[in-house]
Amino acid sequence: MECESCNQSDCGSCSQSPEQKAQAEQIKNLKNFLDGVKHKLVVMSGKGGVGKSTVAVNIALELSKQGYKVGLLDVDLHGPSVAGMLGLVGFPLNSIGKKIVPYQYNENLKAVTVQGLLEDPDSALIWRGPLKIGVIKQFMSDVDWGPLDYLIIDCPPGTGDEPLTIAQEIKDAKAIVVTTPQKVALADVRKSINFCNQLSMKVLGIVENMSGFVCPNCNTVHNIFKTGGGEKLAEEFKLPLLGKLPIDPQIVDSEDDGDPLKNLSDHTRKALTDLTKKVIEYTI
Ligand code: ADP
Repeated sequence: MECESCNQSDCGSCSQSPEQKAQAEQIKNLKNFLDGVKHKLVVMSGKGGVGKSTVAVNIALELSKQGYKVGLLDVDLHGPSVAGMLGLVGFPLNSIGKKIVPYQYNENLKAVTVQGLLEDPDSALIWRGPLKIGVIKQFMSDVDWGPLDYLIIDCPPGTGDEPLTIAQEIKDAKAIVVTTPQKVALADVRKSINFCNQLSMKVLGIVENMSGFVCPNCNTVHNIFKTGGGEKLAEEFKLPLLGKLPIDPQIVDSEDDGDPLKNLSDHTRKALTDLTKKVIEYTI
């Protein structure tokens, strides 16, 4: 049958409603974007406050410093921290034509966070599942990311709509699971790993954060939250331990100041470099 709009037989698209056309365009754009990203890594944790955003931001920065093209996508829609950690609060995201222009943090690192869409940085997003799913898809299909070596996705804690959308939309995504060493945090991380297993998302490895405190006065290591929990978990699930990051008060200060790499101790810098080396080793 000939289409009344374009006069071609069985064109299949002119007969679509505007909503169907927009949906088809989004699916096409999402596929094009994902095809242009070599490695997709989702940073997850079972609990909030264990350092998931810290790990996501620092891995993204380290990779970009090593010359990789990196996109950092914050899908922690109710508690976005990436903008604060990178000093981007108060700068709205712009768009050109139909595409959102990501923040260009340095030559190789682009970032997108919902914070860039909020007029008041302190306003709370009161969104249900379908709205959140739509925004996450748009952050991939409607952003001018360009080709990337790594897409690092900072997810909210737990196993809700956000990680579920990512796992369903990005079939080759791999998870980096962040934990602190104590038992209570580890119990929640088991849930994250089981979530990945259920959704057939490969786990790249585990990061043990807040693993020991190096006293700046006496240089002795104090294991405030115990140590080795991440290691045990890695053994239990036969997963690689990608690294251990110490508790470093400078991490808090530099992230609060929006300048993550400022004044970190040599010990922390080395831990971050070693962690990123492992990420590269296991992805390339
Ligand atoms: P999450 O994303 O899991 O909620 P964040 O990365 O936002 O956790 O970290 C929560 C708080 O803990 C932030 O203030 C951050 O600066 C701090 N923090 C994270 N990792 C460390 C660390 N290794 N040493 C000291 N402070 C840390």
